[in-house]
Formats: sequence, C-alpha cells, structure tokens
Amino acid sequence: MSSHPRPALAVIGGSGFYDFFDNEATIVEVDTPYGAPSAGIAVGEVEGRPVAFLPRHGKNHEFAPHTLPYRANLWALRALGVRRIFAPCAVGSLRADWGPGTVAVPDQLVDRTSGRPQTYFDGGGIHVSFADPYCEELRAAAIKAESDELHMMHAATMVVVEGPRFSTRAESRWFAAQGWELVNMTGHPEAVLARELEMCYAAVALVTDLDAGLEEGEGVRAVDVFAEFKRNLVPFKELIRRAVAAVDSTETCDKCRVHAEVSLPFELP
Ligand SMILES: [Zn+2]
Repeated sequence: MSSHPRPALAVIGGSGFYDFFDNEATIVEVDTPYGAPSAGIAVGEVEGRPVAFLPRHGKNHEFAPHTLPYRANLWALRALGVRRIFAPCAVGSLRADWGPGTVAVPDQLVDRTSGRPQTYFDGGGIHVSFADPYCEELRAAAIKAESDELHMMHAATMVVVEGPRFSTRAESRWFAAQGWELVNMTGHPEAVLARELEMCYAAVALVTDLDAGLEEGEGVRAVDVFAEFKRNLVPFKELIRRAVAAVDSTETCDKCRVHAEVSLPFELP
C-alpha cells in the first residue's frame, strides 16, 4: 500500500459518478477477506481533509447492481480508516411531483433484493439495529448542503429492487401505493453492511426518471437514466462536496456505534 493520509470520510459514487476529486488523488488497492472492491480507492482531499472515493460500479461500470462486491467495498473502506460515508445514487421517482433533478435524502429503505449476501456475521448471534437505516448526522449535513439548482427533499422511503431490469408498471404502481417515493438497485445491502461495520452512512439520491408506473411512454430506459444523471452531475457533485465539508466529526456517531455492548466473533478491520 502506498503512503497516503488515512481518510475518515468517504463517498461511494453511483451510476455516472465515477470520479470525485479535481486535484490529484492517490489510488489505493485494498484486498479484503471478501475479495477486491469494485475499484482501487481514490484518496484525495476536500477542504484540507483526506477523503476516500470508491466508484460503486467500478471505474468503467464493470459491475451490475446484483454482482457488486458490497462486502468487499465496505470492508475495504473501513480498513483504510473510513468511519463515515455518503452514498450518492441514481434513483427512479415514484411520485409525479418529484421529477428529474430532485435530490432526496432518504430516511427509510425497503429491501426487495434477493440472494445478495447482506451480513458479515454468519455466526455469533449478531443482530444490528436497523430501524433507522441512515445516520442522522450525515443526513443533516447533506440537507444543509442543498443547492439552488436541485430540488431538495429532506426525507424519503427508498425501495431497493434486485434488478438489473427496471420495474414493471404494476410493480411500480404497487410501490407507490405503499407510500414509497424512490426506487433504486444498490442501496441494499450497502446500508446494512456499513452499519455492521459501525460506519455512519447516508444515501443521497438524485432522481433521473419517473418510474414505469408514472411514465406514460416506453417505460424506463437505461440510456435516458444515464443522460439525465449526466445533466445534473456537476451541481450534484458540488452538493456532495459541501456535505462532506459540513461534517464536523470524523468519528462514528454514538447511534451508529451499534456493537458497543456486544462481543463480536472477530475484530472489525
Ligand atoms: Zn452516524
């Protein structure tokens, strides 16, 4: 491993969000008991503090949502020193009034994925609290970073589907009827794995399309999603940068320190 400062803050960039630093960053290759992460981790600076950046899908979008090495990604960040993570992602909207260009800071998620490993603890009776899946302190920092160019929602329920296909119109209408606002393919198990490793974690979602239940035309097409994400990428990255800068503590907050009174079967990295 080359020499670099230990980053306590990290950003995991989603579809279309493959780099973060304007200045030069050091790429750190980290191996984990779960294999290699999606890409080398870039360590750069935001307002004088070291920050890690990992492109969730790989540098060239090599990984689909259902094949992502989620456990390796979170483990590698923690091993580098990371304790707090912002997770920007592209989402479909289940509400007609939250169109493309809306940014939402989810406060709840619903897991509709299947077959993805979603824990580090296959033994030892470890059951983390997940009632509130996102770190309140990081959510507050993201909300504070709001941009004039993007329409900001301060709470949302995000349903995470298995993918890689988009939802049918009936599925989409059913999700909306539950009162869920956003649909995505990568928010789980990322959030729970961060919690298991006692890292603060907040998703920040950029709406790229109206989901199939709302869309009157051909339904959701990947090409439109990527084009829309690209259109708002500059103000969205700026928002994430301001959120990172707004975080005052670089330690896990008390609420996300879930193993305080538990003896773990192994040490966290
Ligand atoms: Zn926290």
